[in-house]
Amino acid sequence: MDAMTTATFDSLSPLDGTVVRTFPVHDADDVATSVARARRAARDWRSLGFAGRRRALAAWRRDIVAHLDDLIAVVRAETGKPAGDARLEIMLALDHLAWAASHARRVLRWRAVFPGPLMLNQSASLGYVPYGVIGVIGPWNYPVFTPMGSLAYALAAGNAVVFKPSEYTPAVGTWLRDSFVRAGGPAGVFEVVTGLGATGAALCRAGVDKVAFTGSTATGKAVMAACAESLTPVVIEAGGKDALLVDEDADLDAAAEAAVWGAYSNAGQTCIGIERVYAHTRVYDRFVEKVAERTAELRAGVDDAARLGPMTMPRQGDVVRAHVADALAHGGTLRVGTAPGGGSTLQPVLLVGVGEESTAVREETFGPTLVVNRVASMEEAVDRANAVRYGLSGSVFSRRRGRELAARLRGGMVAINSVIAFAAVPALPFGGVGDSGFGRIHGADGLREFAYARAITRQRFPLLTLTTMRRTPGVDRIVERIIRALYG
Ligand code: NDP
Repeated sequence: MDAMTTATFDSLSPLDGTVVRTFPVHDADDVATSVARARRAARDWRSLGFAGRRRALAAWRRDIVAHLDDLIAVVRAETGKPAGDARLEIMLALDHLAWAASHARRVLRWRAVFPGPLMLNQSASLGYVPYGVIGVIGPWNYPVFTPMGSLAYALAAGNAVVFKPSEYTPAVGTWLRDSFVRAGGPAGVFEVVTGLGATGAALCRAGVDKVAFTGSTATGKAVMAACAESLTPVVIEAGGKDALLVDEDADLDAAAEAAVWGAYSNAGQTCIGIERVYAHTRVYDRFVEKVAERTAELRAGVDDAARLGPMTMPRQGDVVRAHVADALAHGGTLRVGTAPGGGSTLQPVLLVGVGEESTAVREETFGPTLVVNRVASMEEAVDRANAVRYGLSGSVFSRRRGRELAARLRGGMVAINSVIAFAAVPALPFGGVGDSGFGRIHGADGLREFAYARAITRQRFPLLTLTTMRRTPGVDRIVERIIRALYG
């Protein structure tokens, strides 16, 4: 396939600007070739059955573990994130791979359902059929964990996949494919195409049976528009502007620790990262003090000791700079850090008292910044948290009202007295509402996302046959009597 391609692009390391590797820019013909290969392989993969796929995916999992340090190095080279962060995302991805492989049968196997009072002569059953070939389009911020939420679940459900990694992390994408093949995974079941946005757009139009997209809301809309041309279904996992709520009875040390990790880990480039905090006025000052103390301990850099790496995508720095400037223009104060200058290694910034109309409060910043605002009550905190177009996840710190407040937050996931915990529980679905997208990865819902329901009835003996032109008024009367007795 690569022989057809002439154009190439370089994957550059944010750590030192060196070329990690050069990759082909696959065009529409290349993508079509990959999809055709995946389609041929999908038949055998499906007929392997749950047990066969479970074995193959377990072998892949073991291969990743056996070559862990190598994968960590590739993730660090392409994203610039600290090795510890790379290790953590791979650990979580492995847990998802194991869960999807071992739970696919229970979630998707054929099962009998009660046929209902009018159809007692039918045996009714429900199964989940793999779509065939899933196109997976992934971002660069968690280049292992994020696509794994689609790859593992789609493969376990019986599909072949064609993966288009971000142009910033193609070496991670091809590493995962090479590992799958090295572990004995059948050729063609896991294809990778590399390139820029146009390659992703070509994948949407290549006749795949479903597209699983993770990335920004704007690109999600473009993906959905492209898929609409052929009525190809999509899952959209888009951005977020997640808030953490601090109640007056919260454990302030735990809340501050969680806010700092949720905001600054991975240099803030986390879809479910904490970008806003609403703290009850009775604890606000003490809470800010604790967050400030912890923020001041952090340093971004390209050396191994730095807790934060540089921005993976250099132009993201411009968004961060614009949001900080806008926060200051909307009455905000810099509590820790200074307005970030040029370059892509940005030091953490803690902003307080920022006007709610600021882009720093309303739009995804995706950088090492945190806004902490004061609220008079938790009702106000909930209202403000919910007042953005995004609805991905959130976090609540409260001793007495955790569940109640969590239930009132708009979004697909909430952590009470911690942050981001839901993403590490493979049995829980992951996804959002509003500008954060729709559909679910992870958990049973995530497995079902990659299969379509098929209903089958089998008539066991004739009884009250309703679907005949020769139906008599007597049959209709009996049916009416049953329905009146049951539901009248
Ligand atoms: P982008 O939207 O820029 O890109 C996502 C992927 O789509 C990339 O592989 C990109 O390729 C590809 N792409 C770009 N243009 C098109 C197109 N026209 N058609 C098809 N595919 C295209 O997102 P980022 O990579 O910048 O990732 C960051 C975003 O991802 C943030 O908004 C973050 O919140 C979100 N995200 C959401 C998660 C979730 O689960 N909800 C998890 C992780 C991140 P290329 O890179 O080559 O341009």
